[in-house]
Amino acid sequence: MYDTYGFPLDLTELMADEQGMNVDKKGFDKEMQKQKDLAKSSQKFTFDRSNVKWMLDNKGSHSEFVGYDSEESKSKIVKWGNEDSQVFVVLDKTPFYAESGGQIGDSGSIENKDFSLKVVDTQKSGDSIIHICDLERGSLSKDLNVDCRIDSSRRKDIKANHSATHLLHQALKDILGSHINQAGSLVGPDYLRFDFTHPNKLAEKDIEAIDLLVNDKIAENISVKTEIKTLEEAKQEGAMALFGEKYGEKVRVLTMGSFSKELCGGTHVSATGEINKFMITQDKAIASGVRRVHALTGQYIGSYLESKMDATSRLQEASDKRELEKKNQSDMLNAIDIDQMIENQKHLDNIPFINEEVALESTDGLKKLNKKLNTKFKSGIAVFSTSINENKTISVSVSKDLIEKSLSAGHLAKCIAEKLGGGGGGKDDFAMAGTSSEFSLDQIQSVIDEIIKNELKKI
Ligand SMILES: [Zn+2]
Repeated sequence: MYDTYGFPLDLTELMADEQGMNVDKKGFDKEMQKQKDLAKSSQKFTFDRSNVKWMLDNKGSHSEFVGYDSEESKSKIVKWGNEDSQVFVVLDKTPFYAESGGQIGDSGSIENKDFSLKVVDTQKSGDSIIHICDLERGSLSKDLNVDCRIDSSRRKDIKANHSATHLLHQALKDILGSHINQAGSLVGPDYLRFDFTHPNKLAEKDIEAIDLLVNDKIAENISVKTEIKTLEEAKQEGAMALFGEKYGEKVRVLTMGSFSKELCGGTHVSATGEINKFMITQDKAIASGVRRVHALTGQYIGSYLESKMDATSRLQEASDKRELEKKNQSDMLNAIDIDQMIENQKHLDNIPFINEEVALESTDGLKKLNKKLNTKFKSGIAVFSTSINENKTISVSVSKDLIEKSLSAGHLAKCIAEKLGGGGGGKDDFAMAGTSSEFSLDQIQSVIDEIIKNELKKI
């Protein structure tokens, strides 16, 4: 769609009527405005000429776009100015496409023997095509005859994405229904974005059908034709136009065989085969009744799938690792002979006492071990020490009958931690302590022994 060519809304309504559709003008205007605001806010450069200091401003004809047929030109700078470090240039004729109709502006170079400008973006301001540039060499001199060249590989990607956008537009209508209308688009080199009226999330099978139809049309290698026609002719041929856009008396009609016919000022491939491949990567709602799909073409699909596969395999690796850790833990837990431990138990003041070093490597493992032990070890104190990431973690469990005698695992863990230089605490029946220093099981035993003696003395 070309935003310089005015396509009156009443004509759009007439065309919609012919196709048995109604135009919800108010609703659409509202959505259009939302779209435009959204597009503006996401734009890299918005050209605001009020701050630019114009150094040269020749009157006369300028900004003839020759970029449909050529990617370079011998041109003359007719107007230039600067703001901060950027230079703004208007040429008599230019191969640089200025952002419009969703297609982003070209980049490239403008130079002569005296200076070199790197064109970072191209925007429209009224009738002018403004080249937004960084000065790379020299300074703008008297000789303003320049050689212009767009970044042609970037343009090639943009062309593929723009032509794919037209195929997508028609495919959406064919697969989802004639209620589909374009509500906005963004055509860049690395992806394309298409907004359209549709109430629901796209079903997986619909996305597949749309991808398939577009790829079929790419495989047919349909030649892409452009013609300048009057609005009347375009209307009779049923060319698709964007609601709310203004089109002039003469319009550019872009045709892809019998599949697609749209009013469009953008740059396109000469045959659909150049698009190579098409794939929708995303579908989301951006407003009530308006959806946005993102899609890729050509080589960008390969890199997208690769990065997706990398992410998937990274996820798989992480989950494998978690599985392995779980398995290791249960292996380690199973390797601990609880019956043997119970047999080895000591007594501190007639209280059964288990004090063992175990290989478990996690607090979760310690908890599980204590649970397992408690089914057989009904009365007593059990202390387990294990290494987790180079630190020692100690679990303390105290049976119910001893809690009633005012012993507490939390208190024991705290005292052990104090003795070993660490932290600890917990509940009366189960608690943990941690330390980075080395210790012996005898040290732990002496702490517990002392507390038992103190506590039992009180009774
Ligand atoms: Zn277009």
